[in-house]
Amino acid sequence: MIIAIDGPAGAGKSTISKLVASQLNFQYIDTGAMYRGVTLKCLRLHIQPDEVSRKIESMQTEIRMDGEKIFLDGEDVSQEIRSIEVSQAVSAFSTIPAIRLFLVDLQRKMAVDQDILVDGRDIGTYVFPHAEIKIFLTADVDVRAKRRFLEMQENGGSVSFEEIVANIESRDRIDSQREMAPLKKADDAIEVDTSSMSIAEVVAQILSLVETKQREGMNH
Ligand code: C5P
Repeated sequence: MIIAIDGPAGAGKSTISKLVASQLNFQYIDTGAMYRGVTLKCLRLHIQPDEVSRKIESMQTEIRMDGEKIFLDGEDVSQEIRSIEVSQAVSAFSTIPAIRLFLVDLQRKMAVDQDILVDGRDIGTYVFPHAEIKIFLTADVDVRAKRRFLEMQENGGSVSFEEIVANIESRDRIDSQREMAPLKKADDAIEVDTSSMSIAEVVAQILSLVETKQREGMNH
């Protein structure tokens, strides 16, 4: 079974996804981390977005997910991909078809022979259009920025609230306006607005959707 969870930046996708996946014993795939990993590599190599198509082959990038960790060419970059530098650059790199094709191929290979829960922007519309369950997670931009701000403070970050609002708004704009596989609710996705919901409520709602689906499946 494939569960796709899409939505704008800071809607709580990864927090919710981790909890739901562990309850269901599904493999969790954080596709945002993969785009962040490739972006980090480009920043380190001083490669500009418009140079990527030419250079992606020779970059020989290896992205490996292991539980909640992400390895870039063998190095654990789970912390570094969350930096404000990567957050500010990732959406521009994510518009590049060469990067998307490389990562989508990897994501589809990860789906072979296992139950997965995948979060991102284009999972229900492009990567897995036949996913059994599609959720579109949203929340007001203020709520999203506040959550992200608290999370970054807990991790010892020194980014201001205003910077976070600006980053979220700019990523949403670039992500939803890009040509290839933009951020968009799939027609058959269920929209869940988490603005005034607790984490436990969102998890419970998704688990109950999955249960209903599984029961339907058994009756067919
Ligand atoms: O999920 P997260 O906020 O970490 O994603 C970082 C960025 O990666 C997004 O703002 C978007 O530009 C890109 N992304 C994407 N497609 C996905 C997942 C993430 O373009 N499936």
